[in-house]
Amino acid sequence: MPDWHTIIRDRDFPMIEQAECDGKAMIYLDNAATTQCSRQVLWAMENYWQSQHANVHRGTYCLSEKATAALEETRLVCAEFLGAESPEEIVFTSGATASLNLLADAWALTELREGDLVLATEMEHHSNLLPWLEAARRCSAGLELVPITAEGTLDLGALDRLLDRRPKLLAVCAVSNVLGTVNPLGELVRRCHDAGTAVVVDAAQALRHELIDVKDLDCDFLCFSGHKLMGPTGVGVLYGKKEWLDRLRPPRFGGGMVRSFRFPEAEYESGPLKFEAGTLNLAGIAGLGAALEYLQAVGRKRIAARERELLAYTVHLLEAVEGVRILGKPERRAGAVSLIAPPLQAYDVALMLDKQGIAVRSGRHCAHPLHRALGIAGSVRVSPAFYNTAEEIDALAETLERTLAAAKKAGVSFGDKADG
Ligand code: PLP
Repeated sequence: MPDWHTIIRDRDFPMIEQAECDGKAMIYLDNAATTQCSRQVLWAMENYWQSQHANVHRGTYCLSEKATAALEETRLVCAEFLGAESPEEIVFTSGATASLNLLADAWALTELREGDLVLATEMEHHSNLLPWLEAARRCSAGLELVPITAEGTLDLGALDRLLDRRPKLLAVCAVSNVLGTVNPLGELVRRCHDAGTAVVVDAAQALRHELIDVKDLDCDFLCFSGHKLMGPTGVGVLYGKKEWLDRLRPPRFGGGMVRSFRFPEAEYESGPLKFEAGTLNLAGIAGLGAALEYLQAVGRKRIAARERELLAYTVHLLEAVEGVRILGKPERRAGAVSLIAPPLQAYDVALMLDKQGIAVRSGRHCAHPLHRALGIAGSVRVSPAFYNTAEEIDALAETLERTLAAAKKAGVSFGDKADG
C-alpha cells in the first residue's frame, strides 16, 4: 500500500506526476517560490468561470448574489484557516506583497509620524522590507533592522535593545524564505506588545509547515499568498485584528469600498471592504478557498510533519556532499534550505542541476540584506513540498555530488554572473 503522500501526488498534482519541461523529465524542488496547484483548485476555478462568474456586492440578480455568497464563504474559510475571530478580519489582496504594501500605506496614512521608529529584520523578503522603508521615508520616520546571528536566527538581545526605543511596529517573517529559520513568533509578539509595538507577520513561507492561530498568537496583522499553498497566483490575504482594520484609513480608493458619496464628502465601508477597492480576483479567490480546504482535508498536521521529515532528510544528505556549505543552523527549520558551493557561483550550480532535470532556485531570493549579512553573493535554495519524494532528494544529492566532483576535476572556471 503506497504512502498517503504518494497517493495524493499521483491523484491530485498532474504537474508533479508528469513532471517535465520541454519534453525533459523534471524534479521540482522550488516550492518556496511557488507550489503546483492541486486538481481540486483547478476544478474550483473552472467551476467559477463556468457557473459563478459575475461581479460581487453590486448586483441584485441571482448570479451576482451567488458570486457574492461564494466570495464571502471563502472569507470564512480563510478566517477559519488562520483561527481569526471573524471573517471581518480577512482582506483579499493579490498576494503577500500586495498585502504588505496595502498595510504599510495604511499605516503611513494613519499611524506613522515624523521621528517614529519601525523595525523589520535582516532576514526579511524585500516584500516585507521595502514597503516599510518607503512608508518610513514618506513620514520622516526611521526603519531599523533586527540583525541575525551566525546560526541564522534573530538576535533577540538586539531586538530588546531596539524595543527600548519604543518602535511603533515590527515586521517579521514567520519562516525565512532563504534559511528556513522558524522564528519564535509567540516570544516576539510578547516582547513587542510589552513595549507597545504592533507585530506584522509575513507568513508567506509558513502556512504549510506551521499551524499558526492568529488569536492564540495575538499578532496584529498577518499575510500570505495563495500560490505557496497549492493555490493560484494573484491572490492573497491580509489578516488584521478588527480594531486595527477599523482604525486604519484606506490607502486605495474606488468602487466597492464606498458606503455613501455626496460630493465631495465620501463615507467608506467598514471592515475588509474598506480595503478592497475595485474588482477582486474572484476566480483566484475561488481557487484559494479550494486550496485551503484541500490542505485541511489532507490534514495540516500530517502535511507539516511530512514536510519537516523531507526537509530534515534534504539537509542531512546535502551536508554530506563534498564542497557544499549549508547556510545557517537554526534550531527549527521549515520549508527551505540554502547552500553555497564555492568557488562555484550559485547561478552555475542551479544551471547545471537544471541541465540534469532538477529545478532549484539560485540568486539572492529577494533577500539582499540577508545575503549581505552572510557575506555571500547568492545561494542555491532547495525547497521540497509534501508531494516530493525521498527518491527525488536522493537524486538531487547524487547529481549535486557528481556535478561538483566533475567541475572540480575539470578545474572549470565559472563566470562571474550576477546572482541576483
Ligand atoms: N514574503 C516571503 C517570505 C516570501 O517568500 C515571498 C515570496 O517568495 C513574499 C513575501 C512575496 O510573495 P508574493 O510574491 O506571492 O507576493
